[in-house]
Amino acid sequence: MTQSFQKVRALTGMKDVLPDASATWEQLEQTVRAWLASYGYRNMRTPVLEHTRLFARGIGEVTDIVEKEMYSFVDALSDEHLTMRPEFTAGMVRAAIEHNILYDRPQRVYALGPVFRREKPQRGRYRQFHQIDVEALGLAGPDIDAELIVMLGRLWKILGLQDIRLELNSLGQAPERAAHRAALVEYLEKNLDVLDEEARRRMYSNPLRVLDTKNPAMQDMADHAPRLFDFLGAESLAHFDGVRARLDDAGIAYRLNPRLVRGLDYYNLTVFEWVTDRLGAQGTVCGGGRYDGLIELLGGKSAPAVGFAIGMERLLDLCEQAQDAAARPECQVYMVHQSEPAQRVAAQLAEQLRDAGLDVIVHAGAAGFKSQFKRADASGATAAVILGADELQAGAAAVKWLRAGDFDARAQQETVAFDRLVEELKSRV
Ligand code: ATP
Ligand code: MG
Repeated sequence: MTQSFQKVRALTGMKDVLPDASATWEQLEQTVRAWLASYGYRNMRTPVLEHTRLFARGIGEVTDIVEKEMYSFVDALSDEHLTMRPEFTAGMVRAAIEHNILYDRPQRVYALGPVFRREKPQRGRYRQFHQIDVEALGLAGPDIDAELIVMLGRLWKILGLQDIRLELNSLGQAPERAAHRAALVEYLEKNLDVLDEEARRRMYSNPLRVLDTKNPAMQDMADHAPRLFDFLGAESLAHFDGVRARLDDAGIAYRLNPRLVRGLDYYNLTVFEWVTDRLGAQGTVCGGGRYDGLIELLGGKSAPAVGFAIGMERLLDLCEQAQDAAARPECQVYMVHQSEPAQRVAAQLAEQLRDAGLDVIVHAGAAGFKSQFKRADASGATAAVILGADELQAGAAAVKWLRAGDFDARAQQETVAFDRLVEELKSRV
């Protein structure tokens, strides 16, 4: 008699990469390794399994990751508490301390590979996912902080990605955080009635994280809470200005976000995230920042450090979207207009552009700027030509370069007189 065997499936939130898809992974990994090498970063490989206390200490006891997301178990033979790495930084720093590679010169290192978190699986959120993790150990910045960010801008450009925005904040130093923390706890105590259960539990152990809430009922409270940024002293501000000046030098656009705190405990001074609207709810492609206290916290001799991690699945999703758009553009130029007079001028200019050999779509019908831009973007066009009342008056169109990427502030938009439009677009599309 044959017994039927219950089919075994992969674990929830853990994905197979089949041969048809794996070429894309390998290609991306290759591109990433070459990009990292061009900035002097060298590969490092650390174990998937580490002592649980490494992450509890390194990431922080009162964080989402350590409180509820880690795959931990007690080894049956040794009774040791072990954890599948939920991120790379703690393990890389442990290895750097253990092998004493930190102190004769700074180390620019990276790791690629799987990390594990027990989260609710959904698009862009898995239980085994992959990170590109980059760390500059032994450097105090702000030059290196800015270099890391500029370096990421270059990767988006290499991969042809648009619509990734940079958010930036500074978390200052320990004494500044302590002063802010005291003010924040006092504020939270005054607002006890709007705090949810998690917030009440965390308000003394990790009050900063309370502000990172996604609970809509707490937004208003969070918006008006004392801001860490207002507690920064001259030195921290100078460090932050140093980062910003270098981003300006490189033409990297960013948004200051005083609410950006990141989910791990070890950050100080610079923190940043690259976010996009193209991935649904899971819009953070890359997060990073400075963690000058971690090396000492993990038992090493105090040394500064800064780094970031990119989510590879989210990056791949963006790359695939970019390829789809690039593979079959509907046109080269998309005309966006507001009001009927502008639409009629747009139609005339479009005819001139077509005379010069360009493929042009004029947005048909009336619609808001925002929805016209969405269409322009989805069309795969290289440029959007924008005609509003101001442009008609000035006899010049606004040209938005759709493939320049949001991180490149200089290249995004310019004003071009009607009589130079054909020439300008012809030479650049
Ligand atoms: P999120 O806010 O999306 O939960 P996070 O702050 O927990 O992100 P980090 O710990 O900074 O993320 O990890 C770095 C990057 O790894 C994220 O920016 C994201 O791209 C990716 N990432 C994080 N968690 C997951 C996951 N569960 N599945 C896939 N990618 C993830
Ligand atoms: Mg998370």
